[in-house]
Amino acid sequence: MGNRGRAGRVRMILADVDGTLTDGSVTPLPEGEELKSYNTKDGLGVMIAQLAGLKVGLITGKSSKALEGRAGRLNIDELYQGVIDKRPAFDEILSRHGLSADEVAFIGDDLNDLPLLSACGLSAAPADAVDAVRRSVHLVCRRRGGEGAFRELVDFIIGAQKKWDLVRSRFGELFERKI
Ligand SMILES: [Mg+2]
Repeated sequence: MGNRGRAGRVRMILADVDGTLTDGSVTPLPEGEELKSYNTKDGLGVMIAQLAGLKVGLITGKSSKALEGRAGRLNIDELYQGVIDKRPAFDEILSRHGLSADEVAFIGDDLNDLPLLSACGLSAAPADAVDAVRRSVHLVCRRRGGEGAFRELVDFIIGAQKKWDLVRSRFGELFERKI
């Protein structure tokens, strides 16, 4: 099966955070929090996926209040923070949403993502993921982590599912939400 076929079955998109939604850089702050930058194209990607009826979740080894806030504002369906072994979180999410692994896409950039990348139906990596990850995924994005790689995956799935008309017809709903 080709990637468009794999994307056609997807009902939920899961993503790693550091190095995938961010460029991987971290600035420690005196209070203990860390400063990171997210890309608004990825944020809109979350909303586009939701307009198309897809669910979105984040699974990250780190933990931050800032991410909790952003995930809340974006109405992210699942947020797992501080998860070193991501597979149990993945299995929990599948069972809670009644999904099979084939119906989930996952994007990640580093070795701790490999178990999920090999388990999910459509696996993807930012252009600057580590070599072992880029070699093992179905789809290597043209964009790097934090520069719209997640959005590229969303766009690919929406295209494969022929849902752009649906997304455009519902686009006005975004402006009614406080984001
Ligand atoms: Mg990462």
